[in-house]
Amino acid sequence: MKPRPGFPARLPSSAPAPTARGKTPVVAHPIPRETKTPVLKPKAVVHVPDRPVAPTGVGMESQAVRAAMVRKIQAQGVTHAGVLAALQAVERHRFVDTALVNQAYEDTSLPIGLGQTISKPGVVARMLELLCQGRSEKLGRVLEIGTGCGYQAALMSHLAREVYSIERLKGLHEKSRENLRWFRLSNLHLLFGDGMVGYAKGAPYAGIIAAAGGNDIPAAWIDQLAVGGRLVAPAVTAAGRQNLVVVDKTATGIVRTELEAVLFVPLKSGVA
Ligand code: SAH
Repeated sequence: MKPRPGFPARLPSSAPAPTARGKTPVVAHPIPRETKTPVLKPKAVVHVPDRPVAPTGVGMESQAVRAAMVRKIQAQGVTHAGVLAALQAVERHRFVDTALVNQAYEDTSLPIGLGQTISKPGVVARMLELLCQGRSEKLGRVLEIGTGCGYQAALMSHLAREVYSIERLKGLHEKSRENLRWFRLSNLHLLFGDGMVGYAKGAPYAGIIAAAGGNDIPAAWIDQLAVGGRLVAPAVTAAGRQNLVVVDKTATGIVRTELEAVLFVPLKSGVA
């Protein structure tokens, strides 16, 4: 297991008040710029009266900061209890590089290497809530395209009985395996391959989610969706922008709904 630093006692900066969805694109995956190495703030316990920051104990501290992140996501309109519980349970700081650990609970995407990013938790929560279709019971088998660092896959393992997650970049597939080892999630299966073709062996899926956006939704994904299942993915819409798209496979056909604008990294074919 890769040694991780203790979680730094730095509270996330306060988020702006929630605004109506659909106004400005939600930057889930801005194309990472060449960034200079972030400067780590010296360790210091910041006492904010309304937040239960434990002065001792790394575990408690990260739990409190995560609770603050969950409250902000709730304020953005996410209500699904299972999704909120998963966000509280999964330690996001275990999925980012050491130099970025103290930004792990800010509602922002962060670079994870190879030009990719860990998704913004607010957008991940929104997509997972859509995937759950307002139902409180666990989903059956689900598929994620774009494992990246494995954060969303870990959240999904709390929400579904079986999770398959595919990544096309070998380096990230291996990184996610390493990140996820610590969590021991026996219902999560990591696959290396081109997710454009889905993963037929696990089909049909109760839910499919993509963390990368293409010009359209690949037909294979819709084929591999169960009747009653839902797909949530970013895709370019008629207006030429990338939007969240929900596809429901019903007994009488396919229902496609376009939601707010988003910005995800591109869906690419083949492996590398
Ligand atoms: N789910 C991740 C997000 C990773 S970013 C998280 O929790 O933060 C999106 C990922 O999609 C990138 O790692 C990228 O390499 C991957 N990707 C893009 N096209 C893909 C494809 N065709 N098959 C599988 N993965 C793909």
